[in-house]
Amino acid sequence: MFGIGLNSLIKIGFRVSDHILKQQEIERSRTSAENARRQAEASREKAMEEAARHKRALLEDEIARNSVAVECPNCGSTGNRIRRNSTGFCQFCGTAIQISSSGTAVIADPIERDRALAAEEIRRKSGATGNV
Ligand SMILES: [Zn+2]
Repeated sequence: MFGIGLNSLIKIGFRVSDHILKQQEIERSRTSAENARRQAEASREKAMEEAARHKRALLEDEIARNSVAVECPNCGSTGNRIRRNSTGFCQFCGTAIQISSSGTAVIADPIERDRALAAEEIRRKSGATGNV
């Protein structure tokens, strides 16, 4: 009297649940692949950050080793640190101070001052700070 017998209904029921289980399995493996991809990306970013931090630390170390505490030849202030073999500017009076490789400080000549000013301008535009 029914179009479909009980056995057929049970078979269809099994097939439907089997299909749902397969879909869930596909979804799970898709999710775990996505998680793996995200993790790989995160660890790649972390490695890049670590490398950048290391590079910055090396640069800061290099600046610390090569810079000297300078007494300004113009105003006598002692709060400046400038690298050897370079020209920096007094934080207090703005005088261009040229440092020799031995660390001696002299007031820079106008040509060296202009060169250092131009270099400082470029550094400022690129976002770096300090007498490096
Ligand atoms: Zn000064």
